[in-house]
Amino acid sequence: MNVEVSPVRRAELEERLHAVRERIAAACTAAGRAPEEVELLAVTKTIPAADVIALAELGLRDFGENRAQEAALKVAEIRERRPDLDLRWHFIGGLQRNKVRVVAPWVTRVETVDSARLAAALDKAAAERGTPLPVLIQYSVDGDPARGGVDDAGLLDLAAQVTQARGLVLEGLLSVAPLGADDEESFAAIAAAGSRLRAAHPGATVLSAGMSGDLEVAIRHGSTVARVGTALVGDRRLTSR
Ligand SMILES: *Cc1c(COP(=O)(O)O)cnc(C)c1O
Repeated sequence: MNVEVSPVRRAELEERLHAVRERIAAACTAAGRAPEEVELLAVTKTIPAADVIALAELGLRDFGENRAQEAALKVAEIRERRPDLDLRWHFIGGLQRNKVRVVAPWVTRVETVDSARLAAALDKAAAERGTPLPVLIQYSVDGDPARGGVDDAGLLDLAAQVTQARGLVLEGLLSVAPLGADDEESFAAIAAAGSRLRAAHPGATVLSAGMSGDLEVAIRHGSTVARVGTALVGDRRLTSR
């Protein structure tokens, strides 16, 4: 297991981070928004702990993972090596109810709540860990079950269930634009869903939308969180997906 990244890798990450921050800033300027309105969430699925530590040393605090077991091991390894780093972990993948316990002890926010049953399992886990659990509802533009998410018909019902759960704090919405669909239409639909949610729950202000390939469009449509993997850490297809 590599303990530290090479100087070459560190320089690469620094350069990529700079480029991503420039893209976010340029997109904000073009949209007439302040750059501070959009947070950068570094998606670190499939990359090793050493890379996460290097990104943290470059100033990032928020990291996104999408597999419970892989993430739990990575978080534990980083905490052991670098107890001084105070990182915030965001869970952004499909979460099975039987994996909630693996995630609950370290997660800062679960961003893929798409069913009342998952919300109930998370509520229970929040009670066990003794601190409220912030969540985002995952919204599906087209209802495709493979990508997960709740569609327009179910959005406000699920939001009501989440807010009734004492252990959960509804902070907003996450969505992934469908591949092959028109990005403008997808992000407009995501923004509209975010507005409906906020109208019913004014505290649900987070709109997590946009990734490496489409963050500019997402920011133009009001995204407050860009979830960036590939542009930041490189192409991960060779490692596992
Ligand atoms: C992997 C992933 C991302 C990052 O995608 P990139 O195209 O690599 O930037 C963002 N959101 C979710 C939900 C993901 O699974």
